[in-house]
Amino acid sequence: MPAEQTSPAILWFRKDLRLDDNQALHAAIDQGGPVIPVYIREPQAPNVGPLGAAQEWWLHHSLTALRASLRKLGSDLVLLSGAPAEVLADLAHTTGASTVFINRAYERDTIDREIRSEIETHGLHLSAFHGKLLQTPGRVRTGSGGPFKVFTPFWNAMQKLGEPHEPLDAPASIPAPQNFPKGETLESWDLLPVTPDWAVDFHHYWTPGEQGATEKLESFIDRELHDYKRGRDLPAIDATSNLSAHLAHGEITPARLWHATRGLPPKAAENVGHFRRELAWRDFCYSLLAEQPRLDEENWDHKFDGMEWQYDKAEFTAWTRGQTGYPIVDAGMRQLWKYGFMHNRVRMITASFLIKDLMIDWRKGEKWFRDALVDADPANNAGNWQWVAGSGADASPFFRIFNPILQGEKFDSDGDYVREHVPELAKLGNKYIHRPFDAPDHVLKEAGIELGKTYPKPIIDHGFARDRALAAYRALRGAAEEG
Ligand SMILES: Cc1cc2nc3c(=O)[nH]c(=O)nc-3n(C[C@H](O)[C@H](O)[C@H](O)COP(=O)(O)OP(=O)(O)OC[C@H]3O[C@@H](n4cnc5c(N)ncnc54)[C@H](O)[C@@H]3O)c2cc1C
Repeated sequence: MPAEQTSPAILWFRKDLRLDDNQALHAAIDQGGPVIPVYIREPQAPNVGPLGAAQEWWLHHSLTALRASLRKLGSDLVLLSGAPAEVLADLAHTTGASTVFINRAYERDTIDREIRSEIETHGLHLSAFHGKLLQTPGRVRTGSGGPFKVFTPFWNAMQKLGEPHEPLDAPASIPAPQNFPKGETLESWDLLPVTPDWAVDFHHYWTPGEQGATEKLESFIDRELHDYKRGRDLPAIDATSNLSAHLAHGEITPARLWHATRGLPPKAAENVGHFRRELAWRDFCYSLLAEQPRLDEENWDHKFDGMEWQYDKAEFTAWTRGQTGYPIVDAGMRQLWKYGFMHNRVRMITASFLIKDLMIDWRKGEKWFRDALVDADPANNAGNWQWVAGSGADASPFFRIFNPILQGEKFDSDGDYVREHVPELAKLGNKYIHRPFDAPDHVLKEAGIELGKTYPKPIIDHGFARDRALAAYRALRGAAEEG
């Protein structure tokens, strides 16, 4: 049937801002009529909360890139705002469309279900596809059919399912309607910061959009992957893929990454295995989110509900600003502020510091990260915060308390990461770079440091903090055993 005679298909982009390996896009084209790509800004997305500020910056650039790619294929992107079911029903009404195509987001399974029924009451059909994860949540199951609570058996079971789906290439063209419905302008959404432009350095690090994702992947396969296992724990070197923000916005699929690391020389096998295992952690976090949709609000392990958290506003602020007096913590928090990103090892150290040294509820840290990270992801962020807190599935035990000095000395032994992000310590030698408070006066003077003035004294003594955290944990356990 010629394209004009088949009703148009609405292709609703959400966190799948790509043309490559996009099953919903192919299905919409296969329907045979014109395709209307739309992105809906949901001012009050239930369940997931509003986007963080760093991700709004990313979204602006990613939508710009997506629209340009769509235009190259003869299509366009319609931008609309409002409650999705109503927006889609209006769009269907004005265009004569009868089906909405989506890739499933999983983070909002309930919403997908609600939207489906709302959409269906408007006489529209919703067609949903997979691509966000290596395997659909619910496919990786224990022998008795339940969800896994521990990562390693999850990973073992996942590998037995075989490889993820073969990724689909982007189509060569997309049939367009005679006229695209009128949408809003991206500029009217005010996604970019103005004064101050705190994202000014983001461009040095990031190129949002599919093209940026592909370039990162190619460079990773050519270079960083070959030292991934050793290098991924060292924050001073670029040894990881830096693909998390692209994955979080769906600009590339994990299946594409998996298959791109196939067929490499045998000596790469160990590094490839490690990389794929990390990708599987993402699937694992999504499987936790599927079981516990309020993963960012509720302890996975309810034994932690009775934990007596403390909250000192000045300490929390010092943590957010990278002014704790512990160089590795401050370097991480400043990297986060400047680039919207933080190295994984340092995420663990800074999260541990907030939770265990300051005894501040992990939910406050999760929220701060959610606002500041370009890769903020409802499953990965909440899952990892709970992992560090000890309240999550397969979590690091609460009594494993990171010592920020020893962690710094072990993983940033030359102090390069600290010197890059905490320039006021740049002239301090390796011996004291992670413990400036132990340095003799003349060493500090030579390095131009005046503790308490040019760089803060530690806001808390780690030894004291450790004992306090362990006592709180013992009290919690005691209460749980009595209860
Ligand atoms: C407290 C805390 C909060 C975090 N918040 C997020 C978040 O909001 N979004 C996010 O994507 N990751 C989060 N992570 C996981 C991890 O730090 C990042 O995925 C990683 O640093 C991204 O860098 P990369 O892409 O170079 O990773 P690579 O080492 O190249 O790994 C490849 C991909 O695997 C996935 N991955 C790697 N490590 C993990 C992990 N521990 N858990 C789940 N998936 C993983 C990511 O999608 C990553 O892009 C968090 C970790 C901690 C400790």
